[in-house]
Amino acid sequence: MKCPICGREKSPSLPFIEGICVDCYLKKNPIKPIKLKLKRCKSCGAIFLKGRWEPPATEKLETVEMKEAERELKKIFRAYGFEVVVTSHEGEFKAQLIGEEGMFSFPVTIVTEEERSLCPSCLAKRSGSYEAKIQVRSDGRVDRKTFKEVMDTISSMPYELREAVVSIEELKEGFDINIREKSSAKIIASALADKLGGEAKFTYKLVSERGGEKRTRLSISMRLPSEKSGDLVELNGEPALVLKKSGDIAKILLLSRRKEIKLSKIEKDSLRPFTGSVREVTVEAVLPDRVIVLTEDFSTEEVNNSGVFGKPASGEKYILVEHKTGKFLLSKELVL
Ligand SMILES: [Zn+2]
Ligand SMILES: [Zn+2]
Repeated sequence: MKCPICGREKSPSLPFIEGICVDCYLKKNPIKPIKLKLKRCKSCGAIFLKGRWEPPATEKLETVEMKEAERELKKIFRAYGFEVVVTSHEGEFKAQLIGEEGMFSFPVTIVTEEERSLCPSCLAKRSGSYEAKIQVRSDGRVDRKTFKEVMDTISSMPYELREAVVSIEELKEGFDINIREKSSAKIIASALADKLGGEAKFTYKLVSERGGEKRTRLSISMRLPSEKSGDLVELNGEPALVLKKSGDIAKILLLSRRKEIKLSKIEKDSLRPFTGSVREVTVEAVLPDRVIVLTEDFSTEEVNNSGVFGKPASGEKYILVEHKTGKFLLSKELVL
């Protein structure tokens, strides 16, 4: 097959569109420069595109430009069975058409118009305004470790949530996190409650009333539990172990039912001190249905598999928990 315009032969490096070679097709139907309009925050560099603010670091302008060009070109060339990939090299953009019969690449021009503005979060930071406040408090002291865990949890959140944090104030009794909108504050609070096992209480305070319009501020008070990971407690008379590894969701493990419950789902006052006994033992024998352990006074105890947590091997040190509801054997990592 020959191109009726230029006479060149159809080949994998010269596919055809509508009976002519792609080169001649592009001369007949030149691709207009691809226009891109966006807002850029003059303070943090975030880009507003298609209805949302994109973080400055993860979404570089060039990537946005290439994606936009791809989208526009696909509208034209997909109908002819071509996929489009746009790449850039030293500021020049190149589109590559990839079809079953061949590939062809040509330069494209992308014109980006930037409007300088302030993103909502920089705007709020500048004015210091916020709609919600999370007050993190603890029965014990809110220590550096808790503070770090809160910061880590927030920084692992999606950009929109992280950026909604206007300021964090450290206080003697804990700290306050000021957040731009109520909706973000609720999401952040529930994530923190899950991670740290806190209980969040919501109250709305009227801040001003102007022209009949009420403005409220949401205040979320979060009490962190004083229980530490590895603590034994009781929930409604059942023995339970507190699991609060850094980064994980804080839970308690009900020993007799082998069931985990999020600490944030438990009413704070329903946790009671543990009433049984705890001691270190040595695993003597692991049987198919039970484990036999040797106590410090050289007597033996048996624990059914249903009460064993961990993978005991003979000779290992384990923690024997005795309670009126049963006997349990816990690996030391769970308790320490
Ligand atoms: Zn041609
Ligand atoms: Zn900004």
